[in-house]
Amino acid sequence: MSEQYDVVVIGAGPAGYHAAIRAAQLGLKTACIDAALGKDGKPALGGTCLRIGCVPSKALLDSSRQFHNLQHLFGEHGITAKDAKIDVKTMVARKDKIVKQFTGGIAQLFKANKISAYYGFGTLHAGKKVVVKQHDGKEVELVGKHVVLAPGSDSIELPFAKFDGKHIVDNVGALDFEQVPKRLGVIGAGVIGLELGSVWKRLGAEVTVLEALPDFLAAADADVAKAALREFKKQGLDIKLGAKVSKAEIKKNEVHLTYNDGKSDQSLVVDKLLVAVGRKAATKGLLADDSGVKLNDRGQVEVDEHCKTSVDGVWAVGDCVRGPMLAHKGFEEGIAVAELIAGLPGHVNLDTIPWVIYTEPEIAWVGKTEKQLKDEGVPFKTGSFPFAAVARAVAMAEPAGFVKVIAHEETDRILGMHLVGVNVSELVHEGVLAMEFHGSAEDLARICHAHPTLSEAIHDAAMAVDKRAIHKAN
Ligand code: NAD
Repeated sequence: MSEQYDVVVIGAGPAGYHAAIRAAQLGLKTACIDAALGKDGKPALGGTCLRIGCVPSKALLDSSRQFHNLQHLFGEHGITAKDAKIDVKTMVARKDKIVKQFTGGIAQLFKANKISAYYGFGTLHAGKKVVVKQHDGKEVELVGKHVVLAPGSDSIELPFAKFDGKHIVDNVGALDFEQVPKRLGVIGAGVIGLELGSVWKRLGAEVTVLEALPDFLAAADADVAKAALREFKKQGLDIKLGAKVSKAEIKKNEVHLTYNDGKSDQSLVVDKLLVAVGRKAATKGLLADDSGVKLNDRGQVEVDEHCKTSVDGVWAVGDCVRGPMLAHKGFEEGIAVAELIAGLPGHVNLDTIPWVIYTEPEIAWVGKTEKQLKDEGVPFKTGSFPFAAVARAVAMAEPAGFVKVIAHEETDRILGMHLVGVNVSELVHEGVLAMEFHGSAEDLARICHAHPTLSEAIHDAAMAVDKRAIHKAN
């Protein structure tokens, strides 16, 4: 006998739990399946984001930032503390507590919305039948009028640097080091490499980041990437670009790396190695041979602009489909799909998804970079403004970075906003909002911004597009 539902969601990560909750809010009988277990061995909802991604990494970023500031920034405020120490166990336990609070929160939201949670691994078969292999060993069959696939993504493993969980780790291992490694190697100067590299650097590790590409943060605005690289180098992160790693051997509790710097082979010995070279859609075991759902050549579930798969009534959202692998992109797709299932309009604008890298300074952007616009032949103008000229940023002793606004040369419509600096993870949303409302640089320039706030950098950058910034020479 199978259980019948209006909507069966596979995966309770950001995309899946949003789909399930919104579907239930709209009166649909909903089930959500998730196989993940927490550190305590008990089922933990919330996916990579809550268990081993966004939430725990931000907890550690904040702890390490406090420690770093105590040693390096507070002196400027006249605050000193002798012999500052970090207790890694306490820091990690705090992170685990936060994770538990939020994963438990999803379970409560499921209860409150009368969503049936199934704890185990779900596989989609023909006829929108989902077979769940539960942790208790029992199998259950669910049939949905609609099925939403939201299995998330897994770390990519390099064939010559297999994860052993002790010396060579992915983001999960790097959240749980028992002590600060003396020497940490990182393969990949992407989002995870920079965020977790920063955590351990601030706590005292010697961190060397090996990036295969010659350009730093190639997806970001070139000026932002340049400014960020300068700040990271100042902080002592050793970032080697154009460094192709070919070997990683574990010998006597050390990892011996060989990489080519474009001229010759080099070696590096570290105590821990974090491999952060991207993620891949977690579709292994998700689809039975008769499911009819097509994957593309990157192993992602193929979907149209409404997240519909090749099978009518089967949808896919989040990291397993095209578009950026960002939790908030998954949130929006989950909601949109639930609304489409309920017969409402649902849509996600992939052009206005904000990007954030939670380093210090933070990096954030929305929309196109100058390079993308040049490649597309779109005429544009730019205006930028440094935080060093923003009173609030200077008062906070955080003057690094700037805001750049890019607008269409003729229509003045905002095409992108790029930020590097303190708290820009929050500021970027002004750009998102302006772009969603098809705003112009002049619109932003004419909007009153409170003084003294960090957001004044956006105001002056928007005015600078028209060469009329007040607080700098244009
Ligand atoms: P990424 O794609 O951000 O960066 C991977 C980097 O590794 C790239 O710069 C790439 O050139 C480099 N690389 C690839 N192969 C290499 C090799 N053999 N040697 C050296 N360098 C190599 O991937 P990530 O940092 O692993 O993150 C994975 C995904 O998770 C990303 O899609 C990211 O958006 C997402 N994520 C987002 C956030 C956030 O929004 N703040 C945080 C963590 C993860």
